Amino acid sequence: MQTDPPRSVYALIPITPVMTTADYAPLGVARAVAQRCGGSARAVLIGDAPDAIEHACRLGLDAVWVIPPTAGPLQPHQIAEMLADALSSYEAGHYTNDSLFLVAAGSVGEEIAGRLAAKLKAVPLGKCKHFAFDPEGRMSVQRNAFGGRLEMTLDCHEGPFVAAVRKSDEDSAPEIPDTVDTAVHHLPYREPKQTAYDILTQPRAEEHAGLEGARLVVSGGRGMGNDTGFTALYELAARLGGAVGGSLPAIDAGWAPVARQVGQSGKYVSPEIYLAIGISGTPQHMAGIDPHTKIIAINKDPDAAIFKMAHIGVVADWQELLPALTHELDKTGH
Ligand SMILES: Cc1cc2nc3c(=O)[nH]c(=O)nc-3n(C[C@H](O)[C@H](O)[C@H](O)COP(=O)(O)OP(=O)(O)OC[C@H]3O[C@@H](n4cnc5c(N)ncnc54)[C@H](O)[C@@H]3O)c2cc1C
Repeated sequence: MQTDPPRSVYALIPITPVMTTADYAPLGVARAVAQRCGGSARAVLIGDAPDAIEHACRLGLDAVWVIPPTAGPLQPHQIAEMLADALSSYEAGHYTNDSLFLVAAGSVGEEIAGRLAAKLKAVPLGKCKHFAFDPEGRMSVQRNAFGGRLEMTLDCHEGPFVAAVRKSDEDSAPEIPDTVDTAVHHLPYREPKQTAYDILTQPRAEEHAGLEGARLVVSGGRGMGNDTGFTALYELAARLGGAVGGSLPAIDAGWAPVARQVGQSGKYVSPEIYLAIGISGTPQHMAGIDPHTKIIAINKDPDAAIFKMAHIGVVADWQELLPALTHELDKTGH
């Protein structure tokens, strides 16, 4: 469906020292959505971005604008400010009322989305998927509610719109056009506005890897029995290069810090693999795991609900299985 002027779909990506595939999700979604509506797919990147530029060119985005890196790390409000400046001054193309701005889902991305929507007087849609268009070019999107138990369809009439996206269906199979020559524009350096207040960065209180951006999460539930069980999880996670998570009962019992709770009232994680040990698989817990994540479940109850959602299920007592797994890792030098 061709709109007039063509709808522009922007992937907005701040570059950080450690980028994951989830951080690049807006590029694939922008490409796929623009393809479906006959619009143009664009990207605005902040930072030292050769990998992101290459990624955007590979996906056949129509244009990429690069804002040079700043001296230090940026706060979400500074990123929103820089994006809003670049977009409003028409340096990054000409956006219209039906333009769609996409950021990567996650705590930082969603803060940027909210702040950017306020600055551009755009409509914040939240975390969305399945962007679709009717014959008049109006957009509808789907959004989860109540921890993923309800799905809402939002009809979007007048924008521009800002949405947070994950590696979603749109990302999985955009058709890559072979004729598009991505135009890469370099924007002048912008000094981020100074914050009106000092931001103190506290070093993490623990030395273990954090959940954010982890490619593997080793998560324990009430079935771990006690905090000694979690010591085994930390060791396993460290050996496999992952991070430890936990269900609410495990966190409530004090076996791991609150920052590691996964689920409806905890964190949303999108690793490639989620190893769930002694976790029954309640909707409140599963609401914190990205649908694209592969779940491996270890549970001694063959009827545990998690086996219905797991890609690999092992019926076993973790106290027997983990030592055997550790033994195998020893043999392979991990
Ligand atoms: C509003 C609300 C918000 C909530 N938010 C969250 C949330 O964010 N995150 C969350 O996790 N929960 C949340 N909950 C709680 C949720 O409903 C469940 O109580 C919780 O997820 C259950 O955690 P669990 O799977 O660890 O425990 P259980 O359901 O008790 O499951 C323990 C599992 O361990 C297995 N097991 C026991 N011993 C072993 C062993 N030796 N080896 C292998 N397996 C073993 C058992 O078979 C069982 O399946 C929320 C609830 C409410 C009402």
